[in-house]
Amino acid sequence: MPLSLDKLCIHTITTKPWDLETAARKYGAAGVKGMSIWLDAARGFRGGMAEAGRMVRQEGLDIVSYVRGGFFTALEGADRQKAMGENKKIIDEAAELGAPLIVLVVGATPGQSLFESRKQVTEGLAAVLPHAEAAGVKLGIEPLHPMYADSRSAVSTLGQANAICDALDHPNLGITLDVFHVWWDDQLETGIKNAGEKGRIFSFHICDWKDQPDDMLNDRGLMGEGVIDIAQIRRWVRAAGFSGFEEVEIFSNRYWAMDQDEFLEKIKDEYLNLP
Ligand code: ZN
Repeated sequence: MPLSLDKLCIHTITTKPWDLETAARKYGAAGVKGMSIWLDAARGFRGGMAEAGRMVRQEGLDIVSYVRGGFFTALEGADRQKAMGENKKIIDEAAELGAPLIVLVVGATPGQSLFESRKQVTEGLAAVLPHAEAAGVKLGIEPLHPMYADSRSAVSTLGQANAICDALDHPNLGITLDVFHVWWDDQLETGIKNAGEKGRIFSFHICDWKDQPDDMLNDRGLMGEGVIDIAQIRRWVRAAGFSGFEEVEIFSNRYWAMDQDEFLEKIKDEYLNLP
């Protein structure tokens, strides 16, 4: 359905071999319209956050999100406090950068239940949301595939993310939906509808899940290369009122080893080929 690149955003991690400046120049020249910036890429830019933001916008790119905050869970209260402080710092960086949204990988801690971890996530969010609101930055909970529920995210489904959003009911809190993490969920359509009704779908990530990946983290596929019905999920997301950027986020040893200019062309082709 996409006839143009107007909604195409790429995450800096997707072209990890490029530094921020190179990525911005290359994306801009290729006609890509949005960029989501990872912490390492932004912090590696010498001129500071505000200057990094200016540089990216000068290439004709909207900054879609800053990736990523979260990791609110820990066995010790002192460590949870530290995480809240770290998130406030990330919120300040996003504001300086001019990024309207921070993507959150909320955290999970071995040695405590996922219920306890989700409670800590809710507490952590409650503690930082006023800071986010004052800074004019939104926070998007990204449910992660349950294979990451050991130590990355106690939130595995859109239903769980919706429940936390319901509990906190804050306009700066919503959801980042990534097809890689949620495609298997038989409640996905309902979850998207519920999130949409409350104006909570803040961002949308696309890539593919390869049949038999070589690596559970760094072998994501390009759109069309795997088993996810991306077109269906996108129809649901659009029907729920989301009309923002479609963000290509791919961690792949295979693609990082490739010539990145050729990879960028492949991303554009596959994006335009999406039914
Ligand atoms: Zn994602």
